Formats: sequence, C-alpha cells, structure tokens
Amino acid sequence: MKNIDKELADIVGSEFVSNHPEEKFIYSRDMGTMEPAFPDLVVMPNTTEEIQKIVQLANREEIPITPMGGGLTLSGLVRPLKGGIVMDLKRMNRIIAVNEKSRYVITEAGTSQGMLQAYLKKHHPSLKHSVPDAPPIATIAGNVLIHGSGHISQSGGFHSEMLNGMEVVMPTGEVVRIGSCATSPYWFSRAPLPDLAGLFLGWAGTTGIVTKLAIKLYPNRLFNDVKAFVTEDSEQVAEVIHRVTGTQVAEDVNVVMSSRMPGFQIVFMTYSADTKEELTWKRNLIRASLKKFIDDNVGGFMVVLPVLKGDFLEVPMKNITQFADEMQGGGFEYIGAIMPIELFSEAYRTGIEIADHFGIPHFIIVRVVGLGHCMMFAYAYAFNRADEADIKKVQAALEDTNRKVLQMGGIPWKAEAPAQKQIIEHMDPNTFALMNRIRAVLDPKGIMNPGNWEV
Ligand SMILES: Cc1cc2nc3c(=O)[nH]c(=O)nc-3n(C[C@H](O)[C@H](O)[C@H](O)COP(=O)(O)OP(=O)(O)OC[C@H]3O[C@@H](n4cnc5c(N)ncnc54)[C@H](O)[C@@H]3O)c2cc1C
Repeated sequence: MKNIDKELADIVGSEFVSNHPEEKFIYSRDMGTMEPAFPDLVVMPNTTEEIQKIVQLANREEIPITPMGGGLTLSGLVRPLKGGIVMDLKRMNRIIAVNEKSRYVITEAGTSQGMLQAYLKKHHPSLKHSVPDAPPIATIAGNVLIHGSGHISQSGGFHSEMLNGMEVVMPTGEVVRIGSCATSPYWFSRAPLPDLAGLFLGWAGTTGIVTKLAIKLYPNRLFNDVKAFVTEDSEQVAEVIHRVTGTQVAEDVNVVMSSRMPGFQIVFMTYSADTKEELTWKRNLIRASLKKFIDDNVGGFMVVLPVLKGDFLEVPMKNITQFADEMQGGGFEYIGAIMPIELFSEAYRTGIEIADHFGIPHFIIVRVVGLGHCMMFAYAYAFNRADEADIKKVQAALEDTNRKVLQMGGIPWKAEAPAQKQIIEHMDPNTFALMNRIRAVLDPKGIMNPGNWEV
C-alpha cells in the first residue's frame, strides 16, 4: 500500500484520501454488533472518471474496494472485511434531472434520501420518492442496492423495483449503462431489454460501483391521513393485511409490536388524496375492508389523536430512530426478514420467544411490501455499545433470529457476513455456484467488497 495513497491523491486530490487512524476507526464499524474491520485507506471520489481510475489502480495492485453510501445498514456491510480501500461516495451527490411527465429522477449515487426529499419539495412539490425510515443521510443508491423499502412501498414494492436504470463502473474499470439509458437518452424503464440490473441488486457492492441511477417518482398528494387497527389475535393479522391491501388504497402498511404494549399488534395504514372527499372515500374503504374483524370482535380501530398523527405521517419516522437509541448506548441492529405474510403469526411468536429467552425487550416492526405480496418483518434490538455483555447478548439473539427466520421460510435482508453464510447453507447449491461464476467473470481479481457472499 506504500505509494497507493499518493496515486489516489493524484486522482481525487490529497484532501480526499486518508489513512489517518481517526478516519480508519470511523470507517471500520457501524452501529450494529459486527466486529470492526479496518481499511488501509479511505477515498472520496467526485466523478465517474475518478472512480474508473481508482478501480484500474485497485485491479493493478489487487487491492479490495468497499463502496459506501451512508453506511447505515447496521449489518456491517461497508466494513472492509479484507482491508484495502473504503470508497465513500457522499461527494457524488448531484441531482442530475427530474422528468416530471414520466415521473423519474436521475441522480448520482451519493445523493442522500434527505437531499432528494428536500430537492423535490422545493423544485417539484407535486412529486415524491419512496423514503425509508432510515436516518436521512442514507443514500438512494445504497438503499436501492440492498432492496430497501419505504413509505410508499405498499403500492410500489421494493425500492429496487422502482429502479429505472443505472450507470456502473465495473470491477474491471469499464463504465456500463443498465436499462433504457443504455439505448435512449431517457431513463424511463428497465424493460424491454434483458434486465442486467440483477447483476448489481442485492450483491452488497461485490459486482460493481453504481455511479448514477434513476428511480421512479410518485404523486405527492395534498392530504395525508393514518388509520390504526389493533388486535390481540396474531393469527388474524395476515388476513387483516390481505384485506386492507386488497383495497389498493393504503400507501404504507406497518404493524408494530412492542414490550411496552404486550400482546397488541397495531396495524398502521397511511393514505393520501388530492381532495378531502377522496380522503374520506379512502378512509371508508379501509374501514369497510376490516369490518368483518370488528363484527367478529377480533379487533377495532384505535383513535390516533391529532397531536400524534404528525408522528405517524412524518417521513422518515423519527420515533423509530429514537427507539434505535433506547438503551442510550448508540447500538442498534435488526434482522429484517423478508417473508410471505401468511407467516405473520409464527414470526411474531418466534420473536417473543427469542426476546424472552435472551431477556431483551421485544420491538418488532413489519412493513408490508407490494400489495401484501410479502413483508419485511424486523426483529429490532437496541443495545449499549459500552456494555460488552449487552453486545454479546444481542449478537446471540441476532444469530438465533437469522436461523429461525430461515427455518420458517423467510430470508434475512441486508444480511451481515455471518448471516450471508447461513443463507448460502439454505440456498440451492446450483444457485450459489451460478453466483460465483457470475462474480468470477465480472471481478476476475476479486477486488469488490470481498468477504461478502462468500463461504
Ligand atoms: C433507524 C433506522 C431505520 C431504518 N429504516 C429503514 C427502512 O424503513 N427501510 C429500509 O430500506 N432501510 C431502513 N434502514 C436500513 C438502512 O439504513 C437503509 O436501508 C439505508 O438506506 C441503506 O443505505 P446506505 O446509504 O446507508 O447504504 P450503505 O450501508 O452505505 O450500503 C449498503 C450496501 O450497498 C453497497 N453500496 C452502497 N453504495 C454503493 C454504490 N454506489 N455502488 C455499489 N455498491 C454500493 C455497500 O457496499 C453495502 O454493501 C434503517 C436503518 C436505521 C438505522
């Protein structure tokens, strides 16, 4: 690594390369439980061309590169497991174009959720993008690449499904375009071409560095409201979700369960409209879809006081971030299990059992993705980073959760390296062999975020 810092400084400027111990410390970890892994160097490029040059250098010297957006997955995905360079993309945060008619935005990969939200509010107030409940510094690219979900995922699906196209620097240094932008000046869709986006989605930065991307935008309506349905019968929740999503009215459906309200499952449904009449009509549709459960005494609508509505309609929801620091020690990690909604009750009971077993207060939040097509079932554990025993306990709980999720038929999302190995053990071996073949072709020197998706 001796002269690499100088070569990198020639590419990006000396103020954007560092091997200082403070920087290496910060880039070695996140707020989750994974052990730190130290980079040799941190670099912050400003253009696609600079990234190309860094990748060519890394190929020549066989130095690992870990691309990083906000570094907020909590599962340690941007820890450089085999050292080398952490490439922090936050300087590449220009919003390139908004197409109002075809409702999409083209942006650089380091643009954060908060930046895009603020930009649209100011320049295109009739449009919005689907925002995760992550802190606003999380990047659009980082979130799309891990199949994230957000406040309009009920109708739009995973954020990766809202992706129209990408520009990518391949592990060997070529720049490729994916989607309609490969053939047309418009970034309107991934169809009808062979869909190469799958070479980069869900791979944890092991197949290339995304430099630009286009995502779909949605109407930002004038009126927003939330309804809350509460039940103590977990067996019924999958049917509640099925019915309410069947109306195609709610934009976001979340179920919250916490040891502060033991036994209750509260289903929050947000919806929006351009007029008050439309809002009332949508509210009535949601009510009607769940009438059966009220008639059967299975549950009922809960009043959400006007003072609290703001909290539930806030995007992203700040009170989730507050829970993340409940133990006052800055430690937080969750297993977001992607699973079919019919597993709701079993997944809920499993969550309570794990929390009881490890003596951790339970906090479970579920986001329905698509029209009830599946759900992200999050088992969340806050912990105190200053307390070693607390960390060990949460690590054990996370491992147990991953194992049980896979046994149930779910799949841990944005899986940390040990959980990736658990997934691989459950995976069809031919599928894993195909993954390895693809990776060997794309990245013959094995420089991209090595240690992930490996046995
Ligand atoms: C309180 C809290 C709430 C959350 N709520 C949600 C939620 O509602 N929905 C949700 O989806 N997530 C949520 N998250 C999880 C996570 O924070 C987000 O998904 C976040 O958007 C990830 O983006 P990032 O920029 O931090 O990604 P990073 O952690 O920087 O990167 C994620 C992965 O993508 C790779 N990568 C990043 N950028 C590139 C690139 N340009 N090219 C190639 N590879 C790249 C990285 O190497 C890494 O493997 C939450 C997190 C917290 C702390």
